[in-house]
Amino acid sequence: MKERPLSGQDHQFLFKQIGIIHSCYKQKFGIPRQPGIVTAAEATLELLPPYNQENLVRGLDGFSHIWIHFIFHQTMDEGWRPTIRPPRLGGRQRMGVFATRSTHRPNPMGMSVVALKGIESGNGKLKLHLGAADLLNGTPVIDIKPYLPYADALQNAKGGFAPLPINMGDVHFSETALEQCLRYEKRTSRNLILLIEQVLEQDPRPAYLRGTTERRHGTALWDLNVVWEHTGDHFLVTALEPLNLNNTTNGSNKA
Ligand code: SAM
Repeated sequence: MKERPLSGQDHQFLFKQIGIIHSCYKQKFGIPRQPGIVTAAEATLELLPPYNQENLVRGLDGFSHIWIHFIFHQTMDEGWRPTIRPPRLGGRQRMGVFATRSTHRPNPMGMSVVALKGIESGNGKLKLHLGAADLLNGTPVIDIKPYLPYADALQNAKGGFAPLPINMGDVHFSETALEQCLRYEKRTSRNLILLIEQVLEQDPRPAYLRGTTERRHGTALWDLNVVWEHTGDHFLVTALEPLNLNNTTNGSNKA
C-alpha cells in the first residue's frame, strides 16, 4: 500500500487536565504578557485527583522554578489566526502565529516558567505555591516540568521583536484609593499596592487605546475592581470597588 504524507488533521491528541490555577488575576485584562514581570502576583496550582498524590511531586522541591503547560481556556473557543499583531509592535505589524506567544494558536496551549515557592499537602489536597505567574484564575493545567537552568537558560539567545518590557509610567494613587489599599492590605495581608503598581506599569491597555487619556479602566485583582486612568505621563488609581465580573466597568473598553 502506498504511504501518503500525514497531514496535520490526521492526528489528534487528548490531554488530561492534571490541575487548576487559583490566581489573583480574575480577568485577562491586566495580566502581564509573560511570567516573572509582576513579582507580587500570587497563584496556586491545585493538583486534581488522581494526580494529587505526593509521590507525583517527589523531588520537585529541589527546583526553584517549574514549567507549567496549560490551556488558554478563556480564548480557545475563538479559534486561531495565522498571523497576529503583537502588542509589542504597537498593533501595527503582523507576525506569524508561530513567531508569537499569542493565545490564539492551532493548539491553545501556553507555557510559563514560574517560581516554585512551596508545596503544601493536607486534607486530600496537593498545592504548589507559585510566584510571578501570568495565569488567569481557573486556568486548566496539563503538565508540570522542572526548570533546568543548564538547558533552559541560554545566555546568547536573541529575543527577536520581543525585547525586555519597560516601565510605561509611574503609578499614583488618589487619597481615597490609597486609604482603601492600606485597609485591604491590613485585612488580608496581601501586597496589593505593589501588585497594582507592577500591573499598571506594564500599561495593560490595548494598542488602540494607548493614545487616550483620562478614560476609566477597571482591572480585576483578587476580589477587587481596581479603577484607574492614564493621565499625563502616569497611571492614576482612583478607587477600589468590590469585584463583580458582570460589572460593565471591568476591562479596558467598557468604561
Ligand atoms: N507565558 C505563556 C506562553 O508564553 O505561552 C502565556 C503568554 S500569553 C501572551 C499571556 C497572556 O495570556 C496573558 O496576558 C493573559 O491575557 C492570557 N491568559 C492567561 N491565562 C489565560 C487563559 N487561561 N485563557 C486565556 N488567556 C489567558
